[in-house]
Parts: sequence; C-alpha cells; structure tokens
Amino acid sequence: EAKLRNANTQLEAQLKEIQKLQHTLHEQAVRDALTGLHNRRYLNETLGRELARAERGGYSICFALIDIDRFKSINDKYGHATGDTVLIHLANQLLKYTRTGDIICRYGGEEFLIILPNTKTEAAAQIAERWRATIEESKISENDVEILVTISCGISEFPVDASTEAEIIEAADKALYAAKYNGRNQVVLWSQIKDQ
Ligand code: GH3
Ligand code: MG
Ligand code: MG
Repeated sequence: EAKLRNANTQLEAQLKEIQKLQHTLHEQAVRDALTGLHNRRYLNETLGRELARAERGGYSICFALIDIDRFKSINDKYGHATGDTVLIHLANQLLKYTRTGDIICRYGGEEFLIILPNTKTEAAAQIAERWRATIEESKISENDVEILVTISCGISEFPVDASTEAEIIEAADKALYAAKYNGRNQVVLWSQIKDQ
C-alpha cells in the first residue's frame, strides 16, 4: 500500500510537470520570438471569442493596424539587426501605452495589430495618436547612431464598420493604406474614408 501511494504521488508530480510544460509550449506557440508580442496564431485563436463577447456585451472593439514607415530604408541604411532593434523598440512602446485587456499582435514583418475591446473610434484615435507621437519623438540609439522612425495607423470599429473578422481587419488595412497614401506618419479612421 505504501508503494502504491508512493507511485501515485510520483505520477501526480509528473502530471503537474507535463501540464506546466504544455502551458509553456502553448505560450511559446502564440508569441512572436523577436518581440514577445502575441502572434497571428494567437489572433486566430482569440478573435472569434472577442467578437462574440463584444456582441453579447453590446460594446465596440477597435482595430488599429500599424505599419512602420519606410522600414526597408532603415534596414538598408543600418542593417537588418538594427531593423530588429527598431521592431523591439516599437513593441515595447506599444506595450507601455496600452491597457490590460488590449491585445497587441505582431501581424506581419513590420505590421502590428492592436485590438482595443470596449473602445469606440474617437477614443481609439486618441490612443493611436499618442502611439504615433511617442514613436516619432523617441530616438532609438544603436551603435552611437540615433534612428528616427515613424508609423502609420488605420483604425476600424466592430461592429459599426464591419461585422466579420476578415472585413473588420480589411477596413483597418484600407485606412492604413490611406494613411500611407496621404503622406505617412498619421492615423486614419475607416469612418473618415469609407465614403470616398
Ligand atoms: P511603407 O512606408 O510603404 O510601409 O514602406 P516600407 O519600406 O516600410 O514597406 P515595405 O513593405 O516595402 O518594407 C517592409 C520591410 O520590412 C521589408 C522587410 O525586409 C522588412 N522586414 C520584415 N520583417 C522584418 C524583420 O523581422 N526584421 C527586419 N529587420 N526587417 C523586417
Ligand atoms: Mg508593411
Ligand atoms: Mg512599412
């Protein structure tokens, strides 16, 4: 009986260890290795749930899609490693200026998607403007050179602008495209351009 109890205790300890490892593995699978932000996979896992929750709760979710301006020229001028440093810097700034409950995701190479639950376009525009100004003003020091970087941002609001995952991100992407087209380093709202 004592042996059996001992074996049981060992099994329980092993099970706990496996569960801990599984948790760590999942956490790694849903994070971007460079920035530590959430990745596309996490977005796919959570977006449906977030939208359903907002529908039930009757609140809005804003989607802010950010793209670094002329990032290719930063890579070309300073090298890819410095480009990576810029990405990490931007990720840290975004983390600093978002609330708990917001989801920050590295959406593509130099594109970031921020999901702001319970937020309307007007408030999201103010928050995004703060990100934009902060990034513009912060200097990134790397090997004794100071790098200046700006971002463009497009914003859409669920469910008023679109009611599906794909369409709401597409609306933010079109607003982002307008921000680029209008000269970069700015925030554009889908609601401003949808009738153009
Ligand atoms: P725009 O203002 O129109 O956005 O210009 P851009 O140069 O930022 O746009 P483009 O899409 O042409 O370039 C994006 C660049 O981002 C190209 C690619 O080499 C770089 N990039 C993508 N992922 C990474 C990464 O993980 N690290 C670094 N250093 N560069 C990356
Ligand atoms: Mg891009
Ligand atoms: Mg870019």
